Amino acid sequence: MRQAKALSVALVGVEGTVIEVEAAISSGLPRTTMVGLPDTALKEARDRCRAAMSVAGHGWPTGPVTINLSPATLPKAGSHYDLSIAAAVAAAKGTCDPTALEGRVLFGELGLDGKVRGVRGLLPALLSALAKGLTRAVVPAVQLREASLLSGLSVHGVGDLAELFEVLAGGPGSTLPPAGPPRSPDRQSVDLSDVAGQEEAKWALEVAAAGRHHLYLHGPPGVGKTLLAERLTSLLPDLSDTESMEVSAVHSLCGINLDDGLVRRPPYADPHHSASLASLVGGGARVAMPGAISRAHRGVLFLDEAPEFPPRAMDALRVPLESGRVVLARSESTAVYPANFQLVLAANPCPCGMAGTPGANCRCAPMAVRRYASRVSGPILDRIDIHQRLRPVRSAMLAAPAGDSESSAVVAGRVLVARDRQLRRLAALGWRTNAEVPGPVLRKQLPAPQGVELLSRAVARGQLSARGVDKVLRLAWTIADLAGVDLPALDHLHTALAMRRGEDLVSGAAS
Ligand SMILES: [Zn+2]
Repeated sequence: MRQAKALSVALVGVEGTVIEVEAAISSGLPRTTMVGLPDTALKEARDRCRAAMSVAGHGWPTGPVTINLSPATLPKAGSHYDLSIAAAVAAAKGTCDPTALEGRVLFGELGLDGKVRGVRGLLPALLSALAKGLTRAVVPAVQLREASLLSGLSVHGVGDLAELFEVLAGGPGSTLPPAGPPRSPDRQSVDLSDVAGQEEAKWALEVAAAGRHHLYLHGPPGVGKTLLAERLTSLLPDLSDTESMEVSAVHSLCGINLDDGLVRRPPYADPHHSASLASLVGGGARVAMPGAISRAHRGVLFLDEAPEFPPRAMDALRVPLESGRVVLARSESTAVYPANFQLVLAANPCPCGMAGTPGANCRCAPMAVRRYASRVSGPILDRIDIHQRLRPVRSAMLAAPAGDSESSAVVAGRVLVARDRQLRRLAALGWRTNAEVPGPVLRKQLPAPQGVELLSRAVARGQLSARGVDKVLRLAWTIADLAGVDLPALDHLHTALAMRRGEDLVSGAAS
């Protein structure tokens, strides 16, 4: 019996494990068996590899071939093992040098014509290989740019199977394709100055950006809720190097093109309320894939028409909102994806959207309006820091020259200064933004006595819960940071209380 092995990586969540792909050829009738918990896509690999190897002039062995992926206990999914399987079989057959496969991870899906196609999750897989001390890799030529984002790695790109065997024989492989036109700056192309009026809501957006507070926008259709939510990321600071790598790894798993480099700006995801639970939080049969909440990691998750989302979907956000990650348990493995996002919800005042609009005719039954408003569950509402009501913009404001509005860059400048103040104050304690500071710490440094009195009064009147007090304090700190003062003053607390008290909008929307 002749055998050889090649290396690849199995991903569960963003965690990778180096997999040994062993091929053994014995004598007897031709038959190919694959063992080691492969999924359907992987079982089909033998057909793809057999066809591709014939095209590359290597031929499939005539005897029985056994392909084993170890460790066998780990479920393996996807088609990126094709290259390692073909290489291991060729080495066992003696048509390629087995030593060329040592310490080298291989990724790529094979077409029947021998072409090598791109795979999902290349970036996290390479990161895992690097962590295990493997510094040589062969990747699809189309993903050379993605692989070259990592330093300390010697990478060869291959366009087809024949090129893989050339590389294993010491060839240079494909060269880095010339850089294409720069990526359309997607969300960066939107600017706060595009939104007419709504100065109060813009201020709420600025506070949300500065302290990383969750935001709920209430208002009739067409007042600019979506426009504002889309512009939140344009106010946020760039991602740090670590954050950038985390976000890029998730995007690589989602199959998002990284040709233009690592993701440097906070991402934005806006799943529709009819989207499946799996596409929202992540899911899949054997190895769970990331969902919209992970695509929004370190960025903004916008749920428009929040009351229309099924209660199950909203409930699924509770744990990620608390822990910053999502755990997806499957029978054979448990995948963990990062999901530390800033939540922005938007809702109409009633199912038809017209309640409370002067001159509009809302035909919703009072009961239906109440039910609509209460569809976003208490635990989610509890985590919202700012409730902001938007009113229809008067036509006079629409006619105002656009230059009057502040641009995203100006506001982002103030946000950055406020973030720096928070970082200086909180970094030693392990936090970066006011939103992360726990209640007990906040309450230890209560502002001026009149401030305490103000909050006590609000609690006594039933306008504020204990959790609400913490939210108001966090908001007050952010407002003080934006104002450039070291301790929240009484009017900062008043403003914070008003922003938080928007809570009444929800319970009182029907009245
Ligand atoms: Zn209505």
